[in-house]
Amino acid sequence: MTALTTRTDTASKEEPVPTERTQAAPDSPRPPFAAGLPALVAWHAERTPHALAVADGDTTLTYAGLVSWARALAAHLHEHGVRPGDRVALLMPRSARTVVATLALWWAGATCVPLDPAHPRPRSEAMAADAGVTLTVGDGKLLESVALTGPSLALPAEEPLSGSRAAAPEPGPGAAAFIMFTSGSTGRPKGVCVPHRAVAELLSEPAYVTLTTRDRVLFHSPMTFDASTFEVWAALANGAAVVVCTVERPSFEDLAQQVERHGATVAFFTTALFHRLAARRSRVFSLLRTVVVGGEALSAEHARRVLRAFPWLELVNGYGPTETTTFATAHRVTDADCDGHVPIGRPIAGATAHVLDGTGRRPVPDGGRGELWIGGSRLAHGYTGLPELTAERFVDHPELGRLYRTGDLVSVRPDGNLDFHGRTDDQVKVRGFRVEPGEVEHALRRQPDVDDAAVTVLRPTPDDARLVAYVVAAPGPVPRSGVLRDRLAATLPAHLVPDEVTIVGRLPLTPSGKVDRRALAALGTGDGDATPAAPLTPLQQAVADIWSRALGREVTQPDADFLALGGHSLLALVVTDDLREELGVDVPLAGFFAAPTVAGQAALVEQALLDAHSDLRPSAQEDTDDQ
Ligand code: ADP
Repeated sequence: MTALTTRTDTASKEEPVPTERTQAAPDSPRPPFAAGLPALVAWHAERTPHALAVADGDTTLTYAGLVSWARALAAHLHEHGVRPGDRVALLMPRSARTVVATLALWWAGATCVPLDPAHPRPRSEAMAADAGVTLTVGDGKLLESVALTGPSLALPAEEPLSGSRAAAPEPGPGAAAFIMFTSGSTGRPKGVCVPHRAVAELLSEPAYVTLTTRDRVLFHSPMTFDASTFEVWAALANGAAVVVCTVERPSFEDLAQQVERHGATVAFFTTALFHRLAARRSRVFSLLRTVVVGGEALSAEHARRVLRAFPWLELVNGYGPTETTTFATAHRVTDADCDGHVPIGRPIAGATAHVLDGTGRRPVPDGGRGELWIGGSRLAHGYTGLPELTAERFVDHPELGRLYRTGDLVSVRPDGNLDFHGRTDDQVKVRGFRVEPGEVEHALRRQPDVDDAAVTVLRPTPDDARLVAYVVAAPGPVPRSGVLRDRLAATLPAHLVPDEVTIVGRLPLTPSGKVDRRALAALGTGDGDATPAAPLTPLQQAVADIWSRALGREVTQPDADFLALGGHSLLALVVTDDLREELGVDVPLAGFFAAPTVAGQAALVEQALLDAHSDLRPSAQEDTDDQ
């Protein structure tokens, strides 16, 4: 068990308030994880009531304060008709209150169905309907503006004065804690129903990551993304603090500032975000002690770059589908791992891993590739309202018990670590050959003049498939595609050598931060815009240069549209960061998307520069005074 100590050394610049940990009288043993997260949080609140639990810049809550507020809110929810077993949607901007509300829902016996304020209404409504939601609770203003159909309840902004603070019954270990939606191949998202016991087992005294009572874990992921489970509850299950990034769409600079301001010591980044932060050698790595990454294959080159520059950093590669409760395996990455594939490690916290052949029955021979099936105690109940799909993916194996079929291809190293080799369902065929895009990408990333790469298949006609690679060049001379192909041909079988290699500025990402293979095709393989260049003002030219670099194509028009050119939210982070560094102007993301043309952004930059230097211009007031 982690030692309970005085929290002074990580006290932040902003929240030095609750520093003393008073040892509470009751010396009750730590509840087993099966008691669930709320019981664990309540136990910490008894032991260390004055320890910092949650801070978001406006609100700072000790463990005692968090538990008191959540219990009062649970009573309030009960008064408003919430009953054990209900599924209640939560619609709130990320804040300390989000954490309180989740705990309150659990103490009211409900399952929390997080909704994302950034999602379009029809998507949220479909999710709520599929989850069988009976009520949506959350922030009053947001509820009003999103205006979902069905009953809703605005949560009080402060701790309710009425309402019992008596200990609410703990939800049973098998009760559903969350329903988290993942995208479904049918086009409709599927709701994964995750039990309390599974979340608590994942996060209670984890062996795969360092977490002490003195840690501060950054909460910056959307609540709808299961990484937020780690961010919030890894902290609160272990007596540490959650520090909340309240900027909804943080820029790279926002992230660094939040880490700095709150004194965060632990953060999770999607692999794609990690790669971008690594490419920029972000200062977040000099501020954090532990970084957990996950979501897709971790690039050895980026991991090495970070580990070499920040050798003290604990870097953990976490792997797992939502259906196995956030992480099923994990690996502490060292420099030695970065010579080849970075492993996804071994099963953690009650999970078991089985590499089975195509029948789903027999293990593959030692070291062979097979599909990864996950078993153990942390499997989800299944997909809400989708019994057939649940039966298809969650299967009873005659010897191994209930298993989840991941669709991931893996192999086991002699030391027991798993290597990830891509998706069974993303597998492509080119001229009859099976191709694992990850393998080609890996080979490309090993080239000294290549920073990142993604490979997919384009089908110009139904019976023609072309393997195409999109390559982000490393700083320095941009490699010629023919040269790269020749180099690959020297190490790979012919069918793994891409038919085309296109140099791009950045790889397109999905909203959850993964490489968006479908959007790759939309990038085309040509060299960009054939429209003749139009005259640009010097400021427009500066913006266009930044865009060109980010988008990997020349931008020559004042009315060029960022999204139409393949831009997306993470790329916008790159551009805003470059605008800040090169032109000294902070363009918030909201402003960025409100003016997504070169001319529009140049105007924003100009306005910001004028505002910043307004003291150099005579103001209207001074003009008047002069008269
Ligand atoms: P997550 O939220 O962790 O991304 P998802 O359910 O959205 O979980 O996606 C899970 C899939 O993402 C896995 O089946 C696997 O294909 C991929 N994945 C997740 N983590 C990793 C990782 N560390 N390395 C390689 N692939 C990963």
